[in-house]
Amino acid sequence: MSGAQGLRTRYCGEIGLADEGRQVSVCGWLDRRREHGEHLVFLDLRDHTGVLQCVVDRRLALKGEFVLQIRGTVQGRPEGTANPALATGEVELIDCAVEILSRAEPLPFSPHEDVDESLRLRHRYIDLRRPRMQGNLRIRAKVNAAIRESMDAQGFVEIETPMLIASTPEGARDFVVPSRLQPGSFYALPQSPQLFKQLCMVGGLDRYYQIARCLRDEDLRADRQFEFMQLDAEASFVGAEDVMGFITTAVGHAVLSATGEEMPKPEVMTWQEAQDRFGSDKPDVRFGMELVDLTGVFAETEARVFQAACVKGFCVPGGATEIGRNRIDELTAMCKKWGARGLAWFRVRGGDSALDGALSRFLSPAESATLLELLEADSGDLLMLIASSERIVNRVLGSLRLELGRPPLDEGALSPVWVTDFPLFEALDADGNPIPAHHPFTMPHPDDMDYLVRGGGESLLKVRSMAYDLVVNGWELGSGSVRIHDADMQQRVFSALGISPEQAERRFGFLLDAFRYGAPPHAGFAFGIDRLAALLAGEENIREVIAFPKTQSGSDLLTGAPGPILPAHLAELGLRPAIPATGDR
Ligand code: ASP
Repeated sequence: MSGAQGLRTRYCGEIGLADEGRQVSVCGWLDRRREHGEHLVFLDLRDHTGVLQCVVDRRLALKGEFVLQIRGTVQGRPEGTANPALATGEVELIDCAVEILSRAEPLPFSPHEDVDESLRLRHRYIDLRRPRMQGNLRIRAKVNAAIRESMDAQGFVEIETPMLIASTPEGARDFVVPSRLQPGSFYALPQSPQLFKQLCMVGGLDRYYQIARCLRDEDLRADRQFEFMQLDAEASFVGAEDVMGFITTAVGHAVLSATGEEMPKPEVMTWQEAQDRFGSDKPDVRFGMELVDLTGVFAETEARVFQAACVKGFCVPGGATEIGRNRIDELTAMCKKWGARGLAWFRVRGGDSALDGALSRFLSPAESATLLELLEADSGDLLMLIASSERIVNRVLGSLRLELGRPPLDEGALSPVWVTDFPLFEALDADGNPIPAHHPFTMPHPDDMDYLVRGGGESLLKVRSMAYDLVVNGWELGSGSVRIHDADMQQRVFSALGISPEQAERRFGFLLDAFRYGAPPHAGFAFGIDRLAALLAGEENIREVIAFPKTQSGSDLLTGAPGPILPAHLAELGLRPAIPATGDR
């Protein structure tokens, strides 16, 4: 990269021995200053590419983070003074002319310091100077560029959809914007461009994509912000495999561009298999400890604890010695919090491989032997078992497996998995209406139509859908589905969800209309750019790859949003606050 221009001829971090004798002009922030007597001062100048040592022969009134232009001559550092830890450690700039471009008051923190996140966010412009943030945001930019390149190459058309819209349900609360011209009415900000991209398909655009901003008013956590970016895509006359192929290509291209490495080919497994083996719809397949069904072992058991609809377990290799009693008590408490009545554990003894544990007296020798065999356990291992309903067993063991075995997010190669055939509904709400697992525009699985048409209540939970998720290293990167493209089918799903034809007409009449005027079969997907960038930057928290993120309580500490607005503005919108504004500042 030698695009330097304006006040500078070169970037700090790119200067090396090959430049010896050259006159250069570099610009940046004063990173550090070291004085060796009156006549020898070392200035480390920093720009986004790195740091360059500049030698000055007199003291100057300079402070940390002053913005400087330094012109000088590149020379190899004298014998024995090279710094191998620095990319530019073999050279320095001499005969320097220093110009102060901007002064800096003492900073609230130095870019070298690890400080509290709220301080970082309040002064994000200082935090952004740190190499970590510089690197992260550049990885993110590469991801965006690569995704565009790949989607363009695959024949997708970039189309912008509006931000001020009617509600698009994705299972979260809408952010709303009051209308001035129609007082008392509100726009919703898009939870996703879902309905517009489907309308693009009805409009014959064939393949749509957008790097779209989505807004969802839900509780924030490490992998969630109110507003986030996703690659949103939709294509006509294609099925699930085609979409999974398009997205695999785009993500693979982003991975290659950001890391220089090929993404391994994704595994494909159904939701049921993911539950059976990993107790999760976000399987982290980077490590073993897979769940094993042990229900049959306890078919005849006398022990009440094991008399349950489902008993499963996994084996922790070497766990008998590594995991002490206190830790087991801790894990038991966790399992109870996750919904189990308790945790059954057994240590496999050395020598005779007998099972030790509070519940081992309830096991017959035959049961012990089958347990060892099914769990492929050896002496020194620890066995963890949960007995309950299948749902609870999977949830608890899935969480326990992650607690005990999950490597750091960025450890090892990426392990992408496509999880297919999700259930159409994830649960029943208090009124007995099913809650959609994705959104209500997802096509039910053709083999399960009977449950949908004739079933009700619990049997609706058996209906699978044509929905698929992309999971990488245990993180859900995104989801998509084959869509309903027929007004009658759409109405059937709305009815199953407890949405009457009148309500459906009022909220989604425009979509049902569109479906009546020639809708092609279509399918699509969306994945989170923030999550992908975080994964590739090795960050567990997406705030680290967002230039200006919000805190856990939804505040922007830098600009002070959200805040009250002027009474005159409220009046214009026809609004009167029922409670005084609160906020972090
Ligand atoms: N609209 C969905 C979402 O934002 C993705 C999709 O189904 O394409 O999660």
